[in-house]
Amino acid sequence: MATNLETIVNFSTQKGFVFPSSDIYGGFAATYDFGPVGILLKKNLEAAWRYWNVTSRTDMVEIEGAIFMHPKVWEASGHIGGFSDLLVEDLVSHRRFRADHLIEDAGVMENAGALTPEQVDDVIAEHKIKSPDGNSVSKAKRFNLLVKTHLGPVEDDSSLVYLKGESCQNIYLDWKATQMVTRRKLPFGIAQIGKAFRNEITVKQFLFRTREFEQMDVQFFCKPSEADAQYEAWKSNRWDFYTKCIGLKEENVRWRQHELDERAFYAQDAWDIEYKFGEIGFKEVEGVHHRGSYDLDQHAKFSGQDLSYFDPETKERYNPFIVECSGGFNRLFLLTLFEFYREEEVTTAKGEKETRIVFGAPYDLAPFKIAILPLMKKDGLADKAWELYEGLRKQGISADYDESGSIGKRYRRQDEIGTPWCVTIDYDTLESGTVTLRHRDSMEQVGEGGRIAIADVAKYLSKEQFGK
Ligand code: ATP
Repeated sequence: MATNLETIVNFSTQKGFVFPSSDIYGGFAATYDFGPVGILLKKNLEAAWRYWNVTSRTDMVEIEGAIFMHPKVWEASGHIGGFSDLLVEDLVSHRRFRADHLIEDAGVMENAGALTPEQVDDVIAEHKIKSPDGNSVSKAKRFNLLVKTHLGPVEDDSSLVYLKGESCQNIYLDWKATQMVTRRKLPFGIAQIGKAFRNEITVKQFLFRTREFEQMDVQFFCKPSEADAQYEAWKSNRWDFYTKCIGLKEENVRWRQHELDERAFYAQDAWDIEYKFGEIGFKEVEGVHHRGSYDLDQHAKFSGQDLSYFDPETKERYNPFIVECSGGFNRLFLLTLFEFYREEEVTTAKGEKETRIVFGAPYDLAPFKIAILPLMKKDGLADKAWELYEGLRKQGISADYDESGSIGKRYRRQDEIGTPWCVTIDYDTLESGTVTLRHRDSMEQVGEGGRIAIADVAKYLSKEQFGK
């Protein structure tokens, strides 16, 4: 596991997991691109999440909603009125900072997000908290986080729209259509992976807090009388997702219950799953919220539409209660880098000590499953290797190919991007049709005498299934 954010930033940007966005223009604050290795990890993490929450269950369906939504959605959801952070302004540099972060960074309290503006002003005055630039700060002001834009040919208030401040709103709007078209009875849930945008005041800690990110949501619709039990079931499901499906060590994951004053007024209970991001400490990666029928009540009121469910057992009509599990994809990606990055002291064939970097992700998450390495480019070795490479890729196996540098260097490169298997094509391959197949973690070659038949390589690539 990595302990240091800088190590992860350097590692992931140098190895093609993440690129700073718009880099040739000097970058653009807190926006990142997933590189050729990172996109493979991203797709595997999404597949793990989808397997765990949708495919392997009988009570879940998935949708994908648009980013643009009717502006009234954000009035109904409370985001226009209440989706704000408190900010303070440095009185000299005029830079703005999130007040709760300043208070937390000063070590005064752990969760300052629930303080009122007046309380923030008092705490800042009492503890003489300065801005990171070392100057006094203004009184706290509310700052709305919704990102605004205009659609259509005219830029005025009538064309004002908001990018999704949280991804899940489509699920509430589509819940009834989904229930009707799938003929589902309660309880059942709708899952979605979707973009969200927040005009965050302080963006720091790499992928942890960005202005554009993805959320992975489960909204589970249930009878009011069953909501408490469903809430507990989903809490334990979420723990298992992180520890079993993704494979995090239990000591790196913990629960934190929201304080009463931190919770939305309608929320019956709220817990966060936190991950220990090395020296940064435990931070939220997912919120599990017992939301009652608030979301459907609000959208029914603002749209004038009936969003209720007719319960065939009790013959009653009601708006279902919702248990929400809302995780951040960027944080899942970042914690995966932290958890599976490791540095090991190894002895080379020449007897020298060196540090080996390994991205030790489980097979299912590994960006490439296998790398094909010809011992030499000449004498037909590269052609033979390319043939195997092409064949594996045609079978849909995420394979990589590398013919540059010594075999030792090429093994290290693959260890760094987490490739579980490396196959080497050498002169014996041409004669006997056998290859060496080396495993990332043990660094040992499999098979009798360290060789296997080329036709047997695919057997080692059988899929593990997400923590099962
Ligand atoms: P925070 O307190 O860290 O700002 P939040 O409580 O506002 O987060 P939610 O609105 O509950 O977050 O969103 C659900 C999840 O979305 C969070 O647990 C987090 O993983 C992710 N998330 C929220 N804001 C961001 C962001 N700016 N960048 C990346 N991920 C985010």
